[in-house]
Amino acid sequence: TTTPARSTSPAVATRLAAEPHLFIDGRRTEARSGQTLPVLDPATGDEIATTACAGRDDVDTAVAAAVRAFDERSEWRRMSPLERGRVLSRIGEAIYANADSFAELEVLDAGKVRGAARAIDVEFAARTFLYFAGWPSKIQGTTVPVSHPGVHVRTEREPAGVVGAITAWNFPLLLCAWKMAPALAAGCPVVFKPSEETPLSALWLAELATEAGLPDGVLNIVPGYGAEAGEALIAHPGVRKLTFTGSTAVGRRIARGAAERIKRVTLELGGKSANIIFPDADLDAAVAGSAGGIFWHSGQTCSAPSRLFVHRDIHDEVVDRLLAEAAALTIGHGLDEGVDFGPLVNARQVERVRGYVERAAAEGAKVHQAGELPDGGGNFFPPTVIAGATDDMECAREEIFGPVVVVLPFDDADEVAERANASDYGLAAGLWTGSVTTEHAMTRKLRAGTVYVNGWGLTDPAAPFGGFAQSGYGRDLGPDSLDGYLETKSLWTFH
Ligand code: NAD
Repeated sequence: TTTPARSTSPAVATRLAAEPHLFIDGRRTEARSGQTLPVLDPATGDEIATTACAGRDDVDTAVAAAVRAFDERSEWRRMSPLERGRVLSRIGEAIYANADSFAELEVLDAGKVRGAARAIDVEFAARTFLYFAGWPSKIQGTTVPVSHPGVHVRTEREPAGVVGAITAWNFPLLLCAWKMAPALAAGCPVVFKPSEETPLSALWLAELATEAGLPDGVLNIVPGYGAEAGEALIAHPGVRKLTFTGSTAVGRRIARGAAERIKRVTLELGGKSANIIFPDADLDAAVAGSAGGIFWHSGQTCSAPSRLFVHRDIHDEVVDRLLAEAAALTIGHGLDEGVDFGPLVNARQVERVRGYVERAAAEGAKVHQAGELPDGGGNFFPPTVIAGATDDMECAREEIFGPVVVVLPFDDADEVAERANASDYGLAAGLWTGSVTTEHAMTRKLRAGTVYVNGWGLTDPAAPFGGFAQSGYGRDLGPDSLDGYLETKSLWTFH
């Protein structure tokens, strides 16, 4: 296989940046705010594009377009369920048709590694649209066995209205799919605010969606800052449903704003996921899976297994083997051949992660780092294993959002279940064991939205994904996600 040479201005980024724009009402639109957003390559610090930056007026324009698209006489509302499904499936196929360019865009915009971006981000974004393409024709009501004579009651499910979606930078394209596909399947128009760090794939996807037959105004993209475009979306009375992926701190603001206006909300927030290796586990698989889970995308994944509980008998061996896995990673620019570990998204994030690691050392934990950082600029931080910490230390409690795993020894199953659950978060948890009894006992006990056994990190559009506790509420993906975008109407007929 040949790997194309690294380019700092991929064709599609250049095209998108040629005229900084938002995407509103089916077309590229200039920002009324007059502001722009620089888009930087995290591996070099180079500016690869400039997009428009939406202000409050721009969000108003976008919501107005979405409200028009939701009018019951609109092309969108009159489209049959099967036709809506066909549009979704054409969007999925358009992602496949442009897979390599999307992968390159994700590398340059979000600091990903080409192979993983193609195999995970792009692949699962396409699959998500294809999965939800089957849903519009299967959203149905019920007949209700009420106890009133001569009265017939049935339910219908209707789209909730205009959706405001706000997302994080760690999976720019994939999060588009997670939010847009179920909303559109349910019949809701969307105003989408990508992270200010990574606006490019959403802008491009909206153009492809329009070419795929999505009517004007159904999908609007307003890149911008949280404090302005984000807050405007939260407050806008035309938005009936908010869906968010990001930090728990911002999630809290969104829940508060939504409460003010009684909007529906789905929140996919942070995590500090516990991953438990029992002494009867297949150790090769457990170490490889745990290292892959935490070091993939340099630890910038919401479900990263960042608290690793290891049975005391195998603790030291696991620490050594994790470090060997870390040392084997090739760190560099995600477009370069052989690289499997990229940068953090920006310099601020590097400083944040460094702060956590330095404070862990100051608190008395042992910090081990491996891997060789490339010369030159770029926001690189080495894979890091922290041992000798205790559960109450900051590094074992807070989400670091970097390639840092804290290894904690345990002695028995009840104890480790209790410690794993003693977290503000509950996004994912996992265990590695050869015993079915341990598996069943532990999967019942662990308080998390996703529990992995003898594996880590897969998602699938058919499987609901979301958190317990402060990792959020509501679910992305699977049939459950549709509930967040639908109202149930009870229809009573008196005969
Ligand atoms: P963040 O919360 O800082 O930002 C997320 C989004 O919120 C961005 O688009 C940002 O512009 C916007 N925002 C910021 N302030 C806002 C405000 N006041 N009002 C409205 N919008 C505002 O998160 P991040 O740093 O981009 O991403 C990292 C976080 O996302 C981590 O905590 C991670 O765990 C979480 N995450 C969760 C999931 C999940 O599915 N649970 C997936 C990916 C990332």
